[in-house]
Amino acid sequence: MSDNICYLDAYARTTEARVVETDAGAVLLDRTVFYPGGGGQPADAGWLTTAGGARLPVIGARKAGDEVWHELAEGVAAPAAGTAVTAEIDWDRRHRLMRTHSALHVLCGVVWRDHQASVTGGNMEPLSGRMDFEFETMAGELVAEIEQRVNAEVAADREIRVNVLPRDEAFAIPDLIRTKVNLLPEGISEIRTIEIVGLDLQADGGTHVAHTGEIGRVRVTGYESKGRINKRIRIAVEDA
Ligand SMILES: [Zn+2]
Repeated sequence: MSDNICYLDAYARTTEARVVETDAGAVLLDRTVFYPGGGGQPADAGWLTTAGGARLPVIGARKAGDEVWHELAEGVAAPAAGTAVTAEIDWDRRHRLMRTHSALHVLCGVVWRDHQASVTGGNMEPLSGRMDFEFETMAGELVAEIEQRVNAEVAADREIRVNVLPRDEAFAIPDLIRTKVNLLPEGISEIRTIEIVGLDLQADGGTHVAHTGEIGRVRVTGYESKGRINKRIRIAVEDA
């Protein structure tokens, strides 16, 4: 099992760790700051630095059960089991993903609050993302209004909190029903939630900024129909 710091502290850029096992260019660490991907957020990239000063490029990470495997760039030899390393994420890229991920939460929160439309899917890259909603109709005027309201929530600089709740307590929150919390296996006893204070509360596994003001500026770059009651909104995240 890998202890993953990113779930409680998204701002942790590095951690000391030890190599547990290696397999075909991938490295399992006992502890990490790498987000292994999921919920539409891509996995982190970064480096593993050895005591000898070798800086090994990591091109991705993935989860296998409770383990986090770090994929080394092609041709890079994996350090032996037992080696002490410093795991470091590519912070510029991660922070852009945190801003983008948080922007999608604000979008989702605004659309739910103002239109009671739930989310059917989403995806993101650093500084761009898309989200699909159960909307019957979508028009330029509506999208412009959504964009304006999203930026009002960014300007309000709302706090974004991470909480870990017992499963029963999480299920008692009515709004969590619109998320995939009810699809979680029976065995999971704790649910991680992301709260944009005063706007949105969701069960979630990604990394986010601490306040909405850190997102920057959100621009709606397009919208399209993906079916009768499925409409897609595309956004870009820009520096304020
Ligand atoms: Zn999230």
